[in-house]
Amino acid sequence: MNIHPFSSATCMQSPDGEDAVREGADGASKKEDKNSVSIRSVMGLLVGSLIVQLCFCLFLTTKYLSTTEDELAAIQERLTDVLTESQTRYSQLYVIETSLATLIRSDDPKQLRNAYLNATASSFMTPGDLSETDRENFVALRRSVDDMWALRQLLSSATEEAHRIWQSMRTVGTTIDARIPEVKLDRLFGSEQTLAPTDEQVDAMLDTYVEQFERAVPADSPEASLLADLHRLESAYLKVRKERENFRTMILRKGNEAVGALDAVRHIYTANRTTKVLAHVEAIGKQVHDMRPGLALLFVLNVTEFFVFLYFSTRLARPIERTSRILDDFQKTYEMPSALPHSNISEVQSLLNQLPLLLTSIATEREKADRMRSERDVYRGLSYTDGLTSISNRLAFERDNDEMSPLPLGTGVIVLDIDKFKPINDTFGHAFGDEVLRTVGGFLRGAARSRDRVYRYGGEEFCVVTQGANREALERMAERIRTGIKRLDFTTPDGKPFNITASLGVSLYDETTAPVESLHVLTAVADEGLYEAKQNGRDRSVFQPVT
Ligand code: GH3
Ligand code: MG
Ligand code: MG
Repeated sequence: MNIHPFSSATCMQSPDGEDAVREGADGASKKEDKNSVSIRSVMGLLVGSLIVQLCFCLFLTTKYLSTTEDELAAIQERLTDVLTESQTRYSQLYVIETSLATLIRSDDPKQLRNAYLNATASSFMTPGDLSETDRENFVALRRSVDDMWALRQLLSSATEEAHRIWQSMRTVGTTIDARIPEVKLDRLFGSEQTLAPTDEQVDAMLDTYVEQFERAVPADSPEASLLADLHRLESAYLKVRKERENFRTMILRKGNEAVGALDAVRHIYTANRTTKVLAHVEAIGKQVHDMRPGLALLFVLNVTEFFVFLYFSTRLARPIERTSRILDDFQKTYEMPSALPHSNISEVQSLLNQLPLLLTSIATEREKADRMRSERDVYRGLSYTDGLTSISNRLAFERDNDEMSPLPLGTGVIVLDIDKFKPINDTFGHAFGDEVLRTVGGFLRGAARSRDRVYRYGGEEFCVVTQGANREALERMAERIRTGIKRLDFTTPDGKPFNITASLGVSLYDETTAPVESLHVLTAVADEGLYEAKQNGRDRSVFQPVT
């Protein structure tokens, strides 16, 4: 018997090849799954963020719409308390400052000055130049001029005093949490006077008056000394005003307490950092109410955003989600879905429109592939089966040779060749010969154990491959086959009983033998035994040890 190994590996496709490819693809998609995010989770995230935004918006809205003014009032109250403690140190300064401000900035002293200047000037003019009001002012001024002088004296010394106090405060290095009692915050910063002329306006007015006055008053007249007094008064005021500014700046910048002020129309016109932190007031110069439209807008925007999101989730996300489910089901059953999702978003809908055609062609291709696969299985089965005897053929033997590599210990091979078969053909015809072959094939299949493999190896040559055998068992099996074949009863075409014999070669690869590379090699050894059996008169089995 000749053995012609051919490279079956290249011509035989692994039955699991496709599955392996599919598995690979599945593995890749699983890997992708790990990094991918589902639409549902993105939606969840968006809804979460919207809810947080809405809550924050609601919080801000309720806070600023309902409590900010209260908070400011509380801050103001707290400040009042705080300021209470600094009475001794600052009250004088406050009184002086207020007096000066009242005198110089408020409407009354201004009118007074106006009248005074006009009146003084008018003494050098013809009465016809004065208006009726000027005359009245003049009269009023004459009446109060003594008071004016007295006040001026008081202011001079008060100014000096203010300076002294301020200097001492600075020397001592007192920090700003010194307090003033019973003083309202807005009063402290003169906010009640907000609607009165500004310092700059007062300065401008004074300049104008002084100019007029200087032009009108001769240098050596008593009014000239009044003018000088006025200058002094003015510079005293400016000094005090400067100190007042310093005072305010110190309070605002360095205070650990909240300091803020509302003006006459309840705008927050100033507040220090602490106030801002405590009251969350950032909008200096804005009325509390001014924030309401902004907050309302923010709220409306949030609600709008929420609905826009809902719109997109129904029109975009949901159809995609449903389509993904449909595709999942389709992949399992390859049945066309009963209904397809619909989207108002044109791009999504145009994709969805393609779906039926796509699925139909996939289903058709799948059907074709299934058919081809089952046909292929049939053909593959046929290609490994001997058409005459219905047992495995030589191709199957080659396949198993590849599979059993390396050859397992305990592999046994019995090769069998029918004796004098050619004459049987020649005498009784080829059909009878075929029947003999079929019967021998069937007998071998029956005689072997289920895990043994039986092949029609060549024309009238067979091969049995066993596993886990020892020499005795293998020889017994060969003998059993030999005697069994001998006992097979045939009837020749001319009706006579007929029997055949066969010769067998046996080989075994186990721990006692030299290593055997492959089934081919072990079969070649058994073949030597078969040759010997033929040489020794046929109808016998010969064990051929591996050397
Ligand atoms: P030996 O005892 O030495 O084996 O003698 P043999 O006649 O059996 O020797 P050989 O191997 O030369 O003969 C085998 C014959 O088997 C030759 C061939 O015509 C015949 N044969 C091969 N295949 C088939 C087949 O499929 N059907 C039939 N009927 N005969 C076949
Ligand atoms: Mg032969
Ligand atoms: Mg033969």
